[in-house]
Amino acid sequence: MQFFINVIVPLALADSFTYEVNENEFHYLQVGMRVAVPFGKSKVYTALVLSKHNVPPVAYQAKEIQEIIDSQPIVNETQIAHWKWLAEYYMCTLGEVYRAAVPSALLLESETIVVYKPKKEYLISDFTDEEFLLYEAFQSQAVLKIEEIISILNKKNIFPVIQSLLEKEIIVLNEEIVESYKPKMVKYVKLNPEYDAPEKLKDLMEILSRSEKQRTLVMKFFQLKAIDKKPITSKTLLEKADVTPAVLKGLISKNIFEEFTLAQDRVVFADVNKQEIVLSDSQQTAFDSVVTSFEKFDITLLKGITGSGKTEIYIKLIEQILKQEKQVLYLLPEIALTTQLVQRLTKHFGNQVAVFHSKYSSNERVEVWFRVNQNSEKAKVVIGARSSIFLPFSNLGFVVVDEEHEPSFKQQDPAPRFHARDSAIVLAKMHNAKVLLGSATPSLESFYNAYQNKFGLVTLEKRFGNVKLPEIVLIDIKEKHRKKEMKGHFSIDLLDEINQTLGRGEQVILFQNRRGFSPVLECLTCGHVPQCPSCDVSLTYHKFQEHLRCHYCGYTMAKPVKCHVCHSVDITTKGFGTEQIELEVMELFPNKSIARMDQDTTRGKYAFEKLIDAFKNQEIDILVGTQMLAKGLDFDNVTLVGILNADNALYFPDFRAHERAFQMFMQVAGRAGRKDKEGKVFIQTYNPYHNIIQQVTTNDYGSMFKEQMYERLNFKYPPFYRLIRLQLKHVDFQKVKEGSFWLYNLLSKQLEMPVLGPEEPSINRIRNQYIRIILIKIPINIPLNKTKNEIRKSIKSFEAIGAYRSIKTTISVDFY
Ligand code: ADP
Ligand code: ZN
Ligand code: ZN
Repeated sequence: MQFFINVIVPLALADSFTYEVNENEFHYLQVGMRVAVPFGKSKVYTALVLSKHNVPPVAYQAKEIQEIIDSQPIVNETQIAHWKWLAEYYMCTLGEVYRAAVPSALLLESETIVVYKPKKEYLISDFTDEEFLLYEAFQSQAVLKIEEIISILNKKNIFPVIQSLLEKEIIVLNEEIVESYKPKMVKYVKLNPEYDAPEKLKDLMEILSRSEKQRTLVMKFFQLKAIDKKPITSKTLLEKADVTPAVLKGLISKNIFEEFTLAQDRVVFADVNKQEIVLSDSQQTAFDSVVTSFEKFDITLLKGITGSGKTEIYIKLIEQILKQEKQVLYLLPEIALTTQLVQRLTKHFGNQVAVFHSKYSSNERVEVWFRVNQNSEKAKVVIGARSSIFLPFSNLGFVVVDEEHEPSFKQQDPAPRFHARDSAIVLAKMHNAKVLLGSATPSLESFYNAYQNKFGLVTLEKRFGNVKLPEIVLIDIKEKHRKKEMKGHFSIDLLDEINQTLGRGEQVILFQNRRGFSPVLECLTCGHVPQCPSCDVSLTYHKFQEHLRCHYCGYTMAKPVKCHVCHSVDITTKGFGTEQIELEVMELFPNKSIARMDQDTTRGKYAFEKLIDAFKNQEIDILVGTQMLAKGLDFDNVTLVGILNADNALYFPDFRAHERAFQMFMQVAGRAGRKDKEGKVFIQTYNPYHNIIQQVTTNDYGSMFKEQMYERLNFKYPPFYRLIRLQLKHVDFQKVKEGSFWLYNLLSKQLEMPVLGPEEPSINRIRNQYIRIILIKIPINIPLNKTKNEIRKSIKSFEAIGAYRSIKTTISVDFY
């Protein structure tokens, strides 16, 4: 009898491959274990066992595996089923899903480096002989390569030893520098409320008559407070008053001053575990409705306005699930948001919280992977970006998808081009788990599902603490120009409001959905606009570096002094981005502290967190930024949000542009006014009567929904049609043009539905590759699988043509 296993390799190949094993190996192996297999002429890959059987392959002679890596499966059968669904639904290969799903450190290759770095105490007597040999080797050399380990142990099959040392936390792989960021904790002082009024100064002076230094300190505090309403740090106060910290300590012990922190106030006062949440009445009602809804629906949409405290409701629900000993997945659209959320969740669930995302080092990811795999207490609640749907959950009970409308849940490149929300819903179904989608501005798709009674729907219309929604003020830029009431890009109304806000010691957010200084440089004489040499786009001007940059491929060139075409020196900037706004604000408010948040200023690992902390600590008065600012961030002292130009978001060439603009404006507006401070939002626009602007102003999701759904139906878009987009790419313009026509003709003959294209996208060349797009619109009532099979067949015929074989085709199902 012969023994075989079928495995997948982490490559873009369809199907699995059959390898031969001996009888012992056969009985030892389980589905979901890794094996090292020879592949092609000389490669070795970490493959994953999919099945065991006794049937030799027909088309080829099965090779033998090189070795078994695991002693336990690292992937479970539910996962494999989910991956198969992903590959089928998103039209990619299982190998591509495997490669995307498993942390790269678990896909060991010959180049892997092993580093001695014990995290725990260990007993040498616990080591096996082989572990001890390595331990000895590590005493003289902290880093070993796989080949060195092979020669030390004098055998090829070394992965089990490495695995076991990894599990004992003695070694790590491919060590990266693991920094960790701790929010800066600035101490501030305030007066005991009892003395916090100018007229109380006299009383205080009497109380303190015997200590001159303490009086000096109190006097200084009142002086500083009179100049600027911003919180005063302990450090500044001590410096200005020129006294020692002991003086302040004395006043604190007399209960005259109190010290506090800003950025961290939620965490600082909690002793890690447990701080009871008391839901407000409307939150409690919403919570109860969610629970009831889950009796009937597996999926419920929680539509709660910004600041309504959706997170608190999630936390209460998670508490219940944890009591049932189940695992929870908390999906977030942006890595940027995790720091704040992790702080909030660890406060309640302590070290049951684990975080999984791409900015983490591969070792950290492996650690979370194994904790989830072992259903460990340390990973009961996993917070993660979209890749966390791949973790080896065995007992998933609940999935939260926060900010479910966010487009970044859809992966663009590489395959699998999956939507994390939709894939999480499928995963949850496999586990019999419930899903809660949360948003202030749900996607049309999800709201339509709720509307059609496919999802439950719970709404929460009150902000926590009954904070009012911000007042929205529309500014007609055209009229302001006419009346000469614009200063640069600011209406004088907005400038007035900024002044008043800063005067009250409150903070301002200015939103401009475009980074850089101004999008383009234009020659006034001939109209030439400098272009990227390898992409079909104009270069963006960055004033700070004095250069032009391509936002698609990163190409840069110094700012030209003369027009490249006509050599005129009359070159001007057109349009404007965040950088220009920042400079204008600096000129308008020279004494204020101003910062900018966009992709350019948040590149470093913790750059984003540092900016957020500085803003929370009120070291920044005005924060200028792109839509990065719109994401569920929560600042207590921001009372004014200015949207400098609403129009470019409205006229973006995309069928979702209006929906997105609505969501973006509502979310940015949601940053204004928290706790006891009511907020204002100024929207500057050339089109104050545009329906979307009106719907934002009146907070009218319902009308936006109805109107957009009408358009979607009319123009054949989701949720009435499913979109499959094919993208064809090649360096040869003519070839991709002809090829895409060929494929288009075939598809439109095969499919009885709208096939559009082959279109030249508005940016028709990226990194020297010319692009053509074919869009297939599948009516929702037509079986998807049949259509997909037709598409697969057509692409196969296309690729069989020699002339077109080098054209790269990518497929995006449910295109975003
Ligand atoms: P959303 O995500 O719905 O916009 P958040 O969950 O961020 O709102 O809540 C807004 C603010 O209100 C946060 O600072 C949060 O801590 C506070 N908050 C909400 N609900 C409660 C509650 N029940 N108890 C205490 N604070 C709450
Ligand atoms: Zn010119
Ligand atoms: Zn480019």
